[in-house]
Amino acid sequence: MAKNYQKRSLLTFQKEFSTEEDCVRHLMSLRWPEGFVCPKCGNNAYWLISTRRLSTCTKCRYQTSITSGTIFHKTRTQLVKWYWLIYHMAVSKVGVSIAQVQRMLEIKDYKTAWLMAHKIRKAMADRDAQYSLAGLVEMDESFFGKAGSIRGRGSEHKVVVLCAISLYRDSKGMERPGFAHMAVVDDASAETVGKFLKRLGASSPTREDRRLINAIRTDGWRSYGTVAKQEGLEHCRIVLSSAKDAGRLLPFVHNIITNAKSVIRGTHRGVSSKHLQRYLNEVCYRFNRRYWEKELFDRLITACVSTDTITYNELAATRATRVS
Ligand SMILES: [Zn+2]
Repeated sequence: MAKNYQKRSLLTFQKEFSTEEDCVRHLMSLRWPEGFVCPKCGNNAYWLISTRRLSTCTKCRYQTSITSGTIFHKTRTQLVKWYWLIYHMAVSKVGVSIAQVQRMLEIKDYKTAWLMAHKIRKAMADRDAQYSLAGLVEMDESFFGKAGSIRGRGSEHKVVVLCAISLYRDSKGMERPGFAHMAVVDDASAETVGKFLKRLGASSPTREDRRLINAIRTDGWRSYGTVAKQEGLEHCRIVLSSAKDAGRLLPFVHNIITNAKSVIRGTHRGVSSKHLQRYLNEVCYRFNRRYWEKELFDRLITACVSTDTITYNELAATRATRVS
């Protein structure tokens, strides 16, 4: 895939992607970076039917869908609107609310706008799932929906979230946060923590036996100690004299958890617990690309054409409670 990333201001973006054809041609350039090839006969020439997102081979007349195998497959919404949403979700530091998306893109149906944003979040999550955590990992657990702020059914339950960030030293020897991941879990037991670490530190999804994490830094909660012992990890325990110390002593996980809570409470005005993981994925995706500002749109649109779509029914399958 072509990697000529470029920084775009809102005005540049607007000019570049102002028509349906602009977006279809751009999608084609991402899917066929060496130029279009007919899958049936290998011919390179085609007619483009932008309105139907199809290309027709000039030789054998075979029609190829430009959007199959991407999050845009079977969408009825104009690609121009999709591109705008992807741009905004890519460059925003705190995400966009569905009400804002509806207004901005003149989308009548709330469900349509909601589904579009979740399809983009799926692309973000699928991209991040390809990365592992390695070396020293700072980790902590947090409760979302604290102090009675969960609304709706099941509000007596708080949602447990595990957070892990790999750390590295820069050229000056300063400790820096690398890659982050957060997961909604049933509990913070040693078994759950162990599975979480195994999945994150595996050198690939099929090689959980090859572990890349060799040390953890935590507040010393017994689950972490048990896992460290079981897995033969070095364990650095930070003893907190009060909860306030967490920000100073485990700064990286503390920051991203605080950030996730404020995005959920602020931008989204609370989210459903069954979708919380998807919003956390978005927060991590953004955190993991914080140094690539000028590449944000290119990277996100590439993620969107590299993964299958998800349907409303697949998304709305289980019971919900609100988390804020
Ligand atoms: Zn052909």
